[in-house]
Amino acid sequence: MKYISTRGDRTERGFSEILLEGLAPDGGLYLPTHYPRIDAATLARWRGLSYAELAFEILARYIDDIPPDHLKRLVDKTYTEEVFGTREITPLKALEPGLSLEALSNGPTLAFKDMAMQLLGNLFEYELGRRGEELNILGATSGDTGSAAEYAMRGKKGVRVFMLSPHGRMSPFQQAQMFSLQDENIHNLAVQGVFDDCQDIVKAVSNQLDFKRKYRIGTVNSINWARLLAQVVYYFAGYFQATKSNDEVVSFTVPSGNFGNICAGHVARMMGLPIRRLVLATNENNVLDEFFRTGTYRVRGSAETHETSSPSMDISKASNFERFVFDLLGRDGARVKQLFAHEVEKTGSFTLSKEEFARIAEFGFVSGSSTHADRLATIRDTFERCGTMIDTHTADGVKVARQYLEPGVPMIVLETALPVKFAATIREALGREPERPAALAGIEDLPRRFKVMPVDAQAVQAYIAENC
Ligand SMILES: *Cc1c(COP(=O)(O)O)cnc(C)c1O
Repeated sequence: MKYISTRGDRTERGFSEILLEGLAPDGGLYLPTHYPRIDAATLARWRGLSYAELAFEILARYIDDIPPDHLKRLVDKTYTEEVFGTREITPLKALEPGLSLEALSNGPTLAFKDMAMQLLGNLFEYELGRRGEELNILGATSGDTGSAAEYAMRGKKGVRVFMLSPHGRMSPFQQAQMFSLQDENIHNLAVQGVFDDCQDIVKAVSNQLDFKRKYRIGTVNSINWARLLAQVVYYFAGYFQATKSNDEVVSFTVPSGNFGNICAGHVARMMGLPIRRLVLATNENNVLDEFFRTGTYRVRGSAETHETSSPSMDISKASNFERFVFDLLGRDGARVKQLFAHEVEKTGSFTLSKEEFARIAEFGFVSGSSTHADRLATIRDTFERCGTMIDTHTADGVKVARQYLEPGVPMIVLETALPVKFAATIREALGREPERPAALAGIEDLPRRFKVMPVDAQAVQAYIAENC
């Protein structure tokens, strides 16, 4: 299997070449040259596999430059009951007949990003070891991504993490999660500013090519293909749990921000998994809902980007979205380049032609959005009627899923985080504290390891140089 860019560069690269990369050199995103079709006999055979076996089968169809026995070992080491809490890894929880949650948030940081990031940690360590190289991951976070990256990379050979976060602005639970890590290769830098300051510093440092090369600076952001690929697996796992035979179809609802999670659902569907609808749910930041309703993709400025109670979906543009548009437009890289490199860059938006927009139906996508009031009502209703406490992002999903229920088609909502991460909104909705997994009792009281930094890229560079 080889990988090409969404913006017309047809140079073919192997999986291991793109594993540690972000964007393709022409500014596009990497996608496989084609999606392997899974035939009926294979799908029937996969139904009986464990999560790790299934992950191996799927990954092996996209990764042919890691020997199969090595890949198998990496996957087996990643998807264990010990790390993810259950033998099923992503068990379904029924809310009511025809509607269930797929639990993706029982990894170390209690959000679905662990599903991919835990694998990425093992892949990075393997590939860097094979090359005899090191990597210093520099990132900015306001919560979920940074902690998932740190828990994935802690103790890994050849990798260090330098994670910037806005000092005092993350939730107390998220601070405790990140800052309590004592691993030598994990560096928490609490910047005396806001999240945008952190991101600006990462950009400034990454733009200094000499520094970047000398200190081997890399990232683990959501456009990484390996992350997306790891997420394809739980669509298959969810399908097998919700159905008895491969003649049945299901729909998935996905609380969405950067379009990474639901893009994995799109890939699963392109491989032939019987998915009827992919329901995209947004919060008040409805860039993507607007696109799927109207065919206009309009990125938002910071004044129009709302801070909501489902903060991991507060996006102004969706960094993985270009991958879907490439497939939607028949893989016409020149057209994608025109839309993203020219129209979005110049005017902040593009609008598909009528014919282009009409094709969306073939890909199964529909959408909806949710508000703070909807989240509160959904959290309350799900707790009172179904006895299940859900987090704010999952609530956005459940709210929108209800608009698209169809008789005879099981609807699976992806549970993207656990309620304990967003305690303030749970208290507002339910008047009580969120449930907390026993393993995380008292993490606020653990010793903390972090360094306070001014809003100053040079200070961050000096810190990295000293700690490499
Ligand atoms: C990252 C995240 C999302 C959004 O996922 P995308 O892949 O960016 O669409 C939704 N919910 C939670 C809890 C997240 O951490």
